[in-house]
Amino acid sequence: MRHETRASTRAAKPNLIGLSPGKLAALLAGMGEKPFRARQILRWVHRRGELDFAAMTDISVKFRQRLARETTLEPPPLRHRFNAGDGCVKWILKTASGSSVEMVYIPDGGRGTLCVSSQAGCTLDCSFCATGKQGFDSNLTAAEIIGQVWLARRELGGFENGGGPAVTNVVFMGMGEPLLNFDNVMDAVDLLLDDHAYGLSKRRVTISTAGVVPAIRRMAGRTDAALALSLHAPNDELRDELVPLNRKYPIKALLEAAREYLASLGERREPLIEYTLIRGVNDHRRHARELAVLLRDFPCKINLIPFNEFSASEYRRPSDSSLGNFRGILVDAGYTVMVRSTRGDDIAAACGQLTGAVRDQTRRRERLLARTVAAAPARGLIASAGDGSPSAAESFRAEERAP
Ligand code: SAH
Repeated sequence: MRHETRASTRAAKPNLIGLSPGKLAALLAGMGEKPFRARQILRWVHRRGELDFAAMTDISVKFRQRLARETTLEPPPLRHRFNAGDGCVKWILKTASGSSVEMVYIPDGGRGTLCVSSQAGCTLDCSFCATGKQGFDSNLTAAEIIGQVWLARRELGGFENGGGPAVTNVVFMGMGEPLLNFDNVMDAVDLLLDDHAYGLSKRRVTISTAGVVPAIRRMAGRTDAALALSLHAPNDELRDELVPLNRKYPIKALLEAAREYLASLGERREPLIEYTLIRGVNDHRRHARELAVLLRDFPCKINLIPFNEFSASEYRRPSDSSLGNFRGILVDAGYTVMVRSTRGDDIAAACGQLTGAVRDQTRRRERLLARTVAAAPARGLIASAGDGSPSAAESFRAEERAP
């Protein structure tokens, strides 16, 4: 019995790494401490990378000991690291639920973007996304979300007197739908924006959503981070097919909610429209023209993402000429258009290729397998829909981390 009590006490210890500045201050207030203690701890943990309370020398020894007794500081365990030829790095982390998720660092000139995951798997099942094919296990905790940024910084050497490549931008474009894990994502965003923690500018933290309309509305008043909308189609008929969530929240409602969020920010900010171009599906000139009309009164930037192929999908990348034509039509219509280059290709780290190893609770993977085998028994499709990232795991040197 005594043993059980001890175990449950240990499990209940709050993990300070995932507490937003507000929640950390509240917890410390409950321990009889002043708000400046929260700022001290934030700086130790998120700026200097310190996880050992004993090393936090500007806090009294007595309180350090109490913190060590009653709380923990635990980033999620890192399992593998893959280094791509172009400087991108992908890491696989283990979640408390037993799944694996991935995050990717993308250096680009003076900018270093970390693409983080918000869920183990995804419930949305967008037709072109490898994560969706994995099914869904669980929401990541706030500690598992901010822990990705903390781990990336440590891995890149960023805690050592500002050394190493920096994480200048964070995008919620890894595995999962961030707005279906609202509270934990917002706590992590609070830490990213807090001057005593990561101190990133609100323009450099981007929440990308497939269009969870009520949650976009909830963002107003809760955060002022940048917003990206995964649109991928210029009309509901096509979008219903690519992003099943569209059947619940169609394009008009999505653009309206985004407009409301941006209006709540009280300054001119433009969302990013993401459009994954898939050969013969949504990459025709008429789609570009329709998109130009759809977004006529919606100030935004457009990011075109050539579809990244993966073995569980029969979709193909667009040709260079259709990409060029599509872009040209939007540019001529006056839009700012960026084409996202494929990075980290050799370690399966590109958009939509992140799979981890999800303990699927939805049985979607089984159903997909049954369907695909029935339709194409000899083609060897979904060879990699099993335990995540086998392409990367098999072909590239994995640095196995000590558990
Ligand atoms: N659920 C969120 C964030 C994850 S996806 C969202 O939908 O925005 C991040 C971006 O990668 C999205 O714009 C998504 O459409 C894109 N993406 C997914 N699969 C892709 C693929 N196979 N090729 C190119 N882009 C892809």
